[in-house]
Amino acid sequence: MQTANLINGQWTHGGGDTFGVINPADDQLLAEVPMSGRQETLAAIDAASEALAPWQERTARDRADVLHELSRLLLEQAPRIGRILTMEQGKPMAESLGEIGYAASFLDWAAEEGCRIYGDTIPASSNNKRILVLKQPVGVTGAITPWNFPVAMITRKLGPALAAGCTQVIKPAEDTPLSALALGELACEAGVPPGVINIITGDPVAISDAMLGDPRLRKLSFTGSTEVGRILMQKASTNLTRLSLELGGHAPLIVFDDADLDIAVAGTLACKFRNMGQTCISANRFIVHDSIHDAFIQKLQDSVSALVVGNGLHEGVHVGPLINDPAIEKVQQHVDTAVASGATLVCGGSTTPIESMSDRFYQPTILMDVTPEMLICQEETFGPIVPVVRFTEDDEAVRLANATPYGLAAYFFTNDASRVIRVSEALEYGIVGVNDGAPSTAQAPFGGVKHSGYGREGGRYVMDEYLETKYVSWQFTD
Ligand code: NAD
Repeated sequence: MQTANLINGQWTHGGGDTFGVINPADDQLLAEVPMSGRQETLAAIDAASEALAPWQERTARDRADVLHELSRLLLEQAPRIGRILTMEQGKPMAESLGEIGYAASFLDWAAEEGCRIYGDTIPASSNNKRILVLKQPVGVTGAITPWNFPVAMITRKLGPALAAGCTQVIKPAEDTPLSALALGELACEAGVPPGVINIITGDPVAISDAMLGDPRLRKLSFTGSTEVGRILMQKASTNLTRLSLELGGHAPLIVFDDADLDIAVAGTLACKFRNMGQTCISANRFIVHDSIHDAFIQKLQDSVSALVVGNGLHEGVHVGPLINDPAIEKVQQHVDTAVASGATLVCGGSTTPIESMSDRFYQPTILMDVTPEMLICQEETFGPIVPVVRFTEDDEAVRLANATPYGLAAYFFTNDASRVIRVSEALEYGIVGVNDGAPSTAQAPFGGVKHSGYGREGGRYVMDEYLETKYVSWQFTD
């Protein structure tokens, strides 16, 4: 298992402080990795700056070939890297393999988009002039990523950055650096030149300060909490560093009276219990029509009771441990405060003991009689909890859904075509799933509005995040 920083194609421990990476399922110490700071970040930016010109000079097809090779290696080694991912993050092995496929798809998609970076010609105002619009790589970029999708959140940034001709310095989350370092090893094997990808583990404040304090780093792409996104936005003002901010969510899921309840329950399972509810697009508030409320809860309870909680490395497990102790405390607080304010526990509601394991396994939980002012309806929970609120009128459901500063993903279930259009347009979110609990895919522009940030990752749109637009106004001299 790789445990060093990758700087300029070299694996370096640096000889300084380290920090431990723990398996959340059983508290086993998996590895010690470098506690890097300013010095290592500047060395990584030096390397990324040196590597920039030769990388840009390669053809787009040449860069695409390297990215496709990285994708191929990632898929080939999915069982090994998936195991590292499950051990450091907790998600079931089947989901880790799914994440690796998803991560590889961003590399392949971006590789092809990089070959289609088109400029423009624009008619000029006099016939002895021509206007050419060029799309050029931003330069050295940074990526700061979260622990919930430790491989895919990197490739969603790395793929388009490299395809566009940029180089990158990556700081993975402290909880999950090992799968990121494993990805770095594959990048070297795939032929990514030294300095084009650099990965440093360590102190988030020191590393991000060094990134945003250095004018050579022209763009930072961050995925994480809204709180940290705000801090980075303030610090980015020093060098006017370009930002993409993929931040927190608080997704509503509406079940209308005409919904197919089997599809609504399947969508709920997909978007609530995947990754133990720790995804930014996890549904966090369930807004269910009065007339089908009891039937929905019954069907959901039947399905939830079949979910197996346990160590993600074990066959047949659907729900692993939450990432750390504060995560368990937050989930318990959301459940307890809801129950104390009148919510009814349908099932779950506490951690569940598992032999020889940590106490971070939370039972899949359903709460009904939830009201919008409860804490669980105000904050992102990041856990396997389904809080259900009733509604009677469509307008009321949309108003409840939009009553949050967040705007990442929203879901609704209906078979009424005009409602599909009306509600999709009224929801103040960057992503809307209609009868679909799993809308994320490499070809779509993933991202949020309001306090969920800005910028889009995926699809053709992501390339703009790593490109500058320049125009050349050319006057003939003869
Ligand atoms: P986090 O903001 O605590 O951490 C994210 C990254 O920021 C980590 O690498 C961390 O080391 C770093 N960081 C932490 N404090 C920092 C600071 N003061 N300065 C600079 N960097 C700092 O978030 P998290 O707990 O790792 O991830 C969960 C959050 O991420 C949730 O809110 C979730 O919704 C969000 N998320 C959003 C998306 C999206 O695409 N919108 C995807 C996944 C996760």
